[in-house]
Amino acid sequence: MIYLHIPFCKQKCSYCNFHFSTSLNYKEEMVAAIKKEIGLRRDELENKNIKSLYFGGGTPSILKVDELQSIIDEVLKHFSFDPDIEITLEANPDDLDKNFLKELSKTSFNRLSIGTQSFFDEDLKLMNRAHNSGEAESSIKRAQDFGFENISIDLIYGSPSSNFEIWKQNLDKTIELQVPHVSSYALTIEPKTMLNAWISQGKIAAPKEAEQHEEFFYMIDFLKDNGFDHYEISNFGKPGFHSKHNSAYWKYQEYLGIGPSAHSYNGRNERSWNIANNQLYINSLNKSILPKETEILSEKDQFNEMLMIGLRTVWGVDLSSLKEKFSTELLEYFQNEIKTKLEDGLLKIENNHLTIPEKHWFLADGIASDLFVV
Ligand code: SF4
Repeated sequence: MIYLHIPFCKQKCSYCNFHFSTSLNYKEEMVAAIKKEIGLRRDELENKNIKSLYFGGGTPSILKVDELQSIIDEVLKHFSFDPDIEITLEANPDDLDKNFLKELSKTSFNRLSIGTQSFFDEDLKLMNRAHNSGEAESSIKRAQDFGFENISIDLIYGSPSSNFEIWKQNLDKTIELQVPHVSSYALTIEPKTMLNAWISQGKIAAPKEAEQHEEFFYMIDFLKDNGFDHYEISNFGKPGFHSKHNSAYWKYQEYLGIGPSAHSYNGRNERSWNIANNQLYINSLNKSILPKETEILSEKDQFNEMLMIGLRTVWGVDLSSLKEKFSTELLEYFQNEIKTKLEDGLLKIENNHLTIPEKHWFLADGIASDLFVV
């Protein structure tokens, strides 16, 4: 699978610490550099038959449809597409106007991941999103009118501008709009964000963990009652609408990440990441030099990563593949470490897979890191 990072946004959301620029001055140069990188790295994927192509960011919908199409065409010069390929565009509601969707519906994009976040203006203002509540709703309806069925929306819960009642209404609206996939995250306060500064200055209250906890568990029951599978801590999909792209990440498959700050993984022991600076990225590719750094993962790194990723999913960690992959010494240490957690019900083993019971998923990162080999 291939991930393409489009590092531009209209404005900075107050909670965001991703890599992007709000200046579009170098948009054409960036598209050219991304296409060049695709060609230069064509031999890095073992499997040349691509099952997922994912345009993320940043805000990929900031590009024109013909620019997006030209990137797909470049990928097609070097790779083949699986007949069931999933081609996702992350899009912000304010970009999904009639013209854009009309053009997009003529391309091979078959999945939209819309950055809705909330259907309430108070939340959207606090998050400094570029769209309003009207656009949050109308963008989804318009996309459906143009034939996009496979739609995921992002929703954020636990914002200081929200409360349990508002959260319930956000979920009701999701069902009313017949959206088949939801990615939902608790609002977290990252360093160097506007939200962090506002909280430090006492301008707004910090999110309350107890409220986030309550909203998370309400969402699980509510979405499951409405036909969604809860297949990863933050992801819910109706049958047939699970994200192929994210599922491949969670199953440790190889992926190629193109664009500034994008990460790649060879499915074994090598990870690399591109420089997180638009101008340096473009300059480097103009000289045909790949602006990336590579790290060889030790046995411990690979083991810890498998736990961290696997324990966030409904599939858990496959114990037979751990046996095949890792040394007896490491496995003995691990068997010892999981004992108490199994007794306490924080972990369970079923069909030779180690999982965290759903009621403890809120604690998944902590449970996994307790088991890390150091
Ligand atoms: S649109 Fe996405 S990437 Fe851009 S600032 Fe907002 S959250 Fe960050």
